[in-house]
Amino acid sequence: MRIRWLTAFFLAASVLLFTGAALANPTPGTGTCGKPYCYWETPMDISDPETIWNVLIQPMTVVDGHERTQVLLYQEPDEESQPVGEVTCHSQGVHVLETLENGWSLVECYSSSNGVSQLEIFNDLVRGYIPTEQLKEKETKTKFGLVVDKLTQRMYVFQEGKLLTTLRVSTGKPNERDPQRETNAGEFHLVSFIGDFVSDNTICEHGIRFNDGDLLHNVPYVLGENGKKEYWNFERRLGQRASAGCIRVQRWRTPEGINMQWLWNRMFNMKQTKLLIWEDAPSRQLVAVPEDTPVYVLPGLSNAYHKKDNCFDIDQCYFPLQQITYAQLDEEEFSHLKDCSYCNPPLRREQIEEINRQYALETEE
Ligand SMILES: [Zn+2]
Repeated sequence: MRIRWLTAFFLAASVLLFTGAALANPTPGTGTCGKPYCYWETPMDISDPETIWNVLIQPMTVVDGHERTQVLLYQEPDEESQPVGEVTCHSQGVHVLETLENGWSLVECYSSSNGVSQLEIFNDLVRGYIPTEQLKEKETKTKFGLVVDKLTQRMYVFQEGKLLTTLRVSTGKPNERDPQRETNAGEFHLVSFIGDFVSDNTICEHGIRFNDGDLLHNVPYVLGENGKKEYWNFERRLGQRASAGCIRVQRWRTPEGINMQWLWNRMFNMKQTKLLIWEDAPSRQLVAVPEDTPVYVLPGLSNAYHKKDNCFDIDQCYFPLQQITYAQLDEEEFSHLKDCSYCNPPLRREQIEEINRQYALETEE
């Protein structure tokens, strides 16, 4: 059953009713479970990192079983009823809405059908029944936590309560023939650190499994003539959807020294570290950036604006870069500058407004 649009509509309608103003950010889920800092009940908004960290360290309810298998959710508490979605065992979190006395539970999650599934429900937010004995609560590791936002194609890296950095990613780009290429939203545990692997002539380093065939990994490369690693064709698309379902992560270091290799080195074998994936759901809205936020430029030499004055995109002989304010980016002198793909500064005001226009829910009179 498809409830995503309906939910977004009611949420938007109720917010409008109370404020008559701009929409709040929606939550991923539709029901309540009574647990604190629940992923499904927390607005998809990175401007409150303290709350998001609390979500990242909560235990998670999963379906017991092997990490490469799925089980069905049913429309009724009955295995003869219609299946409504699929859940990946061991790594995918479910939102438990009701535990019935007849041995069944009502849960919600994004359906994880894969390329060989009979059901073919790809990433729809679904609600269905599962035998309660198949559910298991798992502890979460509390050193690191990751959030991937499909709306902005960014990953937020947390360590021990602090938001450390923002990385560029590419999530799945589905099409009509291959709808299973969509990266599933939801909450996940990192379950296997499998390392380098080959996929369609490309080589992907530092692969970490989080949902069946979907992994976090370094931006891929192909081997060029004389054995040189060529990343360019994949690197230029970071920040946009591009993959077959995996999440490609930035190779260039941010000013904090963080990239996919850093994640691999620091988090290696920290199974049950949490990864949240936010859907680019209708009614999502990005928060405006304060006008006095500092950004950094190098007039005449760099075509980008930067988040820090020591960005690795720039040769250090030019440090420190010139500080201006975020509001000044609108001035003609700086209007051609793009957000740097090493340090990932906040998007320009007009980019944020464009995304918000695109995702604003049309409300009819
Ligand atoms: Zn930069």
